[in-house]
Amino acid sequence: MGNYAIGIDLGGTNLKAGLVGRDGKIHQRLSIRTDNNADPQIISNQIFELIDKIIKAGAGLKPALTNVIGVGLGSPGLIDKKGETILVSPNLPLWRNIPIKRIVAERFGVPCVLENDANAAAWGEKWVGAGKEADSLVMITIGTGIGGGIVINNKLWRGVNNVAAEIGHMVIQMDGPKCSCGNYGCIEAYASATAMVRRFKELLKSGISSSIKDAGSVTAKTINDAALQGDKVSLDIIKETGQYLGVALVNIMHILNPEVIVLTGGMIGSGDLLMNPIKQVIREKAFEASAKETKIVFSQLGNDAGIIGAAGCLLKELEISV
Ligand SMILES: [Zn+2]
Repeated sequence: MGNYAIGIDLGGTNLKAGLVGRDGKIHQRLSIRTDNNADPQIISNQIFELIDKIIKAGAGLKPALTNVIGVGLGSPGLIDKKGETILVSPNLPLWRNIPIKRIVAERFGVPCVLENDANAAAWGEKWVGAGKEADSLVMITIGTGIGGGIVINNKLWRGVNNVAAEIGHMVIQMDGPKCSCGNYGCIEAYASATAMVRRFKELLKSGISSSIKDAGSVTAKTINDAALQGDKVSLDIIKETGQYLGVALVNIMHILNPEVIVLTGGMIGSGDLLMNPIKQVIREKAFEASAKETKIVFSQLGNDAGIIGAAGCLLKELEISV
């Protein structure tokens, strides 16, 4: 039995890999840029190359990497019910029905698991992050979109078709703004970074005065920076974003009554400016019995949650005690 598992995050424009110890720490890491539009075979080869490289890098560790326990792959997009095949991936448009679990397992002769990237990150937070003491946890990623993962009774909740935890597409207003999913009024269409920027631009267009003058270059970060300098419009828009998120959290609490809700993603850079209105809405709207025990916290693992969680999913699958 080996002493490290490999966790891979197939997200965005980078392939990221880490050698993760049974302690849940990343002992070695590597990443390579990918061409998202490349042929599946090319990207598979890049995954092989990345795994080969990180195994080599593990030789220098103490204790040195002897055998790899296996590979945990976290991938965006739809994964089949058995957890073997990437059906479609938003970041890799040419990937259709790629049985990546078998491809990697056969190439390296080790066990492999394939997990949705948001689920993997939620499991990382549950394993060694902000929810490590909890049996039940909901993680919400608030970035350009809104995603999530759900852990119930120490297990990921994937739903009957492996598509559960689409928290961003919780409808909070029946006739609200159009969402990236085609529906209307999803929380993602209100509280993602993209939505906040859109709402901010609408305000500027309406003639409201802000220290940010150039609507074209507005990002969630520039809004946050302006808020920290006291810009009222920026402060108000972050507060309103927190209020929308608060409504989503109240819904989650009423349905699942989890021990912990972990917030992660780029938007949590706003810190208390975002957290305070979330908690205010919960105080006002959540049933007391539901809200009493649920802790609302920021991620502890940040961008590492995906790699750590992918490796953790493998260890969980193999029932390796950690
Ligand atoms: Zn939606």
